[in-house]
Amino acid sequence: MDSFQEAAAADETLDPPDWTEVGALSHRIVDDAIAYLKDVRERPAWREMPAEVRDFFDAPMPRSAAPVADVYGDVARNVMPYPMGNIHPRFWSWYMGASNFTGALGDFLAAVQGSNLGGGNHAAALMDSQVVNWMKEMVGFPASAGGTLVSGGSMANIIGLTVARNVKAGVDVRERGVGAMPKPLRYYASDQVHSCHRKAMEAFGLGNRALRRIPTDDGLRIDIAGLKRAIAEDRAAGFKPACVIGTAGTVNTGAVDDLQALATVAAGEDLWFHVDGCIGALIAIAPENRSLVAGIEQADSIALDPHKWLHAPFEAGCALVRDASLHRNTFAVTPEYLESTPRGLASGEWLHDYGLQTSRGFRALKIWMALKEHGVEKFGRLIDQNIAQARHLTGLIEAEPALELMAPTTINIVSFRHRLDGASEERLKAFNTEMMLRLQEEGIAVLSDTTVHGRHCLRVAIANHRTRREDLDLLVAEMLRLGQEIAAAATPA
Ligand SMILES: *Cc1c(COP(=O)(O)O)cnc(C)c1O
Repeated sequence: MDSFQEAAAADETLDPPDWTEVGALSHRIVDDAIAYLKDVRERPAWREMPAEVRDFFDAPMPRSAAPVADVYGDVARNVMPYPMGNIHPRFWSWYMGASNFTGALGDFLAAVQGSNLGGGNHAAALMDSQVVNWMKEMVGFPASAGGTLVSGGSMANIIGLTVARNVKAGVDVRERGVGAMPKPLRYYASDQVHSCHRKAMEAFGLGNRALRRIPTDDGLRIDIAGLKRAIAEDRAAGFKPACVIGTAGTVNTGAVDDLQALATVAAGEDLWFHVDGCIGALIAIAPENRSLVAGIEQADSIALDPHKWLHAPFEAGCALVRDASLHRNTFAVTPEYLESTPRGLASGEWLHDYGLQTSRGFRALKIWMALKEHGVEKFGRLIDQNIAQARHLTGLIEAEPALELMAPTTINIVSFRHRLDGASEERLKAFNTEMMLRLQEEGIAVLSDTTVHGRHCLRVAIANHRTRREDLDLLVAEMLRLGQEIAAAATPA
């Protein structure tokens, strides 16, 4: 061998020396994955990791090679048995979807192709735009609207609120910054608004106080008269009312603001109308409940979350902006190293012009495959099914004297607590927190908690295509059992 041949022989790659072996392991991984999902109902909804599993995550950085079968063995032993649990039929915490296997295959294939969404002329880029177009259609937006897939709802809201800021700034804010704005901007939302909007205000340099929280009515919807008063007050005080954020499904209780009324206020007051539809925008595809989100199609921008009610594997959010040119004008920058060409890979639309990321993963495929497999109508029915299940649980709570409903159930979120005769609010909170933790630790169900109208409550959010009514019946039965156990343990014999 001459020195050239030696160098060539030494070239390394991440590809395996023997694809046959990798093929066998890969088939095993797929078989294991299928078994994992098939048996999900038989496993606990959550379980604590033993100490040796925790220690496993302190292992030092691997400097040299290990057989990939051993690497997978580590994952199978230490990772797969201890998930967050949101794929479990009795996981109802916070708010997230339950994933799906076709979506997982999509994520796998997207990673195999490895595409970055930059450079507009390839299949991943076209599919990304296609999925965004389908989202527009689902919520009744025109095909001409702008949109982009992002990491999740928080980013999708940031996209919409950034366009609102730039449109309403009264100055070229991209060039001159928020300090040059003639008047400080004000955004409005209900006091139930998701925390990501606060982060947006802070990131924009507007500050948290730029977001006025408007009180809510008994149904925890924004009070329209209160909103109008706040706008008038702010105008008189020299602020520039810029944007009203309607929430289609609040994270606390699932309340849906009156979107038609908000659209009217926004039009009358010259405000940008943004809808945080991370939970509820997709109710627009649910035949029995779509009237709940009527008016969403009038928004200037919408944030929605395919990783919630479309059950896309994390992460997948989507921002839509009615006027595509306003959307593009907010983010488009063409540095010399990203110029498009008349033909070839770099021709076509560059999708990074619609958001903050440069590199973007091929998120569309996992959404696309599941939508094609099941059809949009089935996703709509599943949304209706979750809402019906929440109503079923609400009925069980109302019929059970030991339980107390804490907020009206509008969609798929039920806020309630276990009663405790004569107990203070503080004691009730401790009692219900203990109940929530035991439900987790016994692997029965995963709930979360919150505070509504100043009172602590437990929360069941059913965004889960695996949940059955019998799971909710079981929850109530187990809560009654635990209620007696916890009360007995607290009372000295
Ligand atoms: C989940 C949620 C968000 C944040 O979305 P992520 O996907 O978690 O980033 C924002 N608003 C509401 C109402 C939500 O439910």
